[in-house]
Amino acid sequence: MATAKYIFVTGGVTSSLGKGIISASLGKLLQARGFKVTIQKFDPYINIDPGTLNPYEHGECYVTDDGAETDLDLGHYERFLNTPTSQANNVTTGRIYNNVITKERKGEYLGKTVQVVPHITDEIKRNIFQLGESGEYDFVITEIGGCVGDIESLPFIEAVRQVKWDVGVNNFLVIHLTLIPYLSAAKELKTKPTQHSVKQLLEAGIQPDILVCRSERHLPPEIRKKLALFCNVHINSVIEALDADTIYDVPILMRKEKLAERVLAKLKIPNKNEPNLDQWKVFLGKLKNPTDEVSIGLVGKYVELPDAYKSIVEAFTHAGAVNECKVNIEWISSETITNENSASVLGKYDGVLVAPGFGERGVEGKIEAVKFLRESKIPFFGICLGMQCAVIEFARNVLKLKDASSTELNEKAKHPVIDLMEEQKKVTNKGGTMRLGAYPCDLKKGSKTNSIYGKTKISERHRHRYEFNNKYLEQMEKAGLMATGINPDTGLVEVVELKDHPWFIGTQYHPELKSTVLNPHPLFVKFVEAAQNHKKENNSKR
Ligand code: GLN
Repeated sequence: MATAKYIFVTGGVTSSLGKGIISASLGKLLQARGFKVTIQKFDPYINIDPGTLNPYEHGECYVTDDGAETDLDLGHYERFLNTPTSQANNVTTGRIYNNVITKERKGEYLGKTVQVVPHITDEIKRNIFQLGESGEYDFVITEIGGCVGDIESLPFIEAVRQVKWDVGVNNFLVIHLTLIPYLSAAKELKTKPTQHSVKQLLEAGIQPDILVCRSERHLPPEIRKKLALFCNVHINSVIEALDADTIYDVPILMRKEKLAERVLAKLKIPNKNEPNLDQWKVFLGKLKNPTDEVSIGLVGKYVELPDAYKSIVEAFTHAGAVNECKVNIEWISSETITNENSASVLGKYDGVLVAPGFGERGVEGKIEAVKFLRESKIPFFGICLGMQCAVIEFARNVLKLKDASSTELNEKAKHPVIDLMEEQKKVTNKGGTMRLGAYPCDLKKGSKTNSIYGKTKISERHRHRYEFNNKYLEQMEKAGLMATGINPDTGLVEVVELKDHPWFIGTQYHPELKSTVLNPHPLFVKFVEAAQNHKKENNSKR
């Protein structure tokens, strides 16, 4: 196709309807027919990016190869499409205004009054067309965060209205995601909230082409007819989206409802190929028919909010499917773990992952957890702060460096085994200033990590300020904590593993960010396998 087609996904009635999953599922279905697709998300908040947001506010911050700190929906896009995203795939109101105001200060609008329409809307459109005009994609799917009618999303909605005139009706399509609630007292599905939210879109000058209706129950023909009539869409464009057992079912459910066919018909694209979802279905088959089960403890700080560790949970889903093993994740608040209770809290798990995190809170509990896992030989996987805790624990309890710590926790630690890099010491701004994005790493030949990856040269994504302090490297290695992954350019330690332990690996990087349905991450795959082995051994001892 010569130019990209632009599909917009808006939401109405309530938030949390799963626009990200619907967008990713549509993307998957188009990709399965041989089209090239990218998905972009606009977020209506003023932060330049979610990097400075507390996970309680916005869930996990997802990091791309180019080091963008982005919304967790980009994680879904990558996991579904198996193609990388970048900064261009996530734009906030804050970034749009920042760009416009920076241009204004440079004098680029000299003499003009800078206004929401056209300057802010032009900047929004520039960000949409930048992807479409790259020549890399047949479809650009743009998800508009928030709900129609929110003050904050108005400029985005206005930009969408304008795009139709810029690219023409055959290259433009709007999908509106809404909720059809079921009133149990009346025993009825209700269409009124959807009618109202479509009316709101119409007021903004946008007629949705397709309605995707989230519902707990099937939409009978009368309800579909009513929605079509009142919302001014074809009855075939009323798509039912039932609650699914897993997000990975949604592409299949959308296939049944012919979402991609409707999109292709509306955009007048010949519907040649049937989608090839073979690999996806193999994955689903394994996911849903496990032959084994393990219990994994996840030691973290934000355990009340599983979205804070979204990519880790999804990486376990992918890895579980490979092993045909159900992974039951139990959340453990690191603040509750002490030297006295670590065995009783953690001893029952087949493997424990110590999660990433920032700040002091709960770190001592994480260190206690690592001590118990190291001594009891339960599989341990430490990610970022989790890896740093493993280094601190080893220094304190094996090297007997009593007040070993990270300077993030204790600036005056006598043994700063985890410390700020020189470049980081000068940094005062908080936003976008960490070590972010993809960095190369060389794995030591013959190490466990090397055998897990099956290669020595890897690239993984980072998001942290503190690093392993190489002054302690020799001492650590002599005592058995081996640095088996090194950044070839800087010499920074990226992976540690413990000798004489069935599975004890810590990574300074975030492997979970690169696990997808079609490419499950090898570290997660092998960690689940190690947990299965641990369980077997434990059972045979009983
Ligand atoms: N707080 C640690 C650092 O900044 C670890 C960060 C993380 O776990 N993502 O280095």
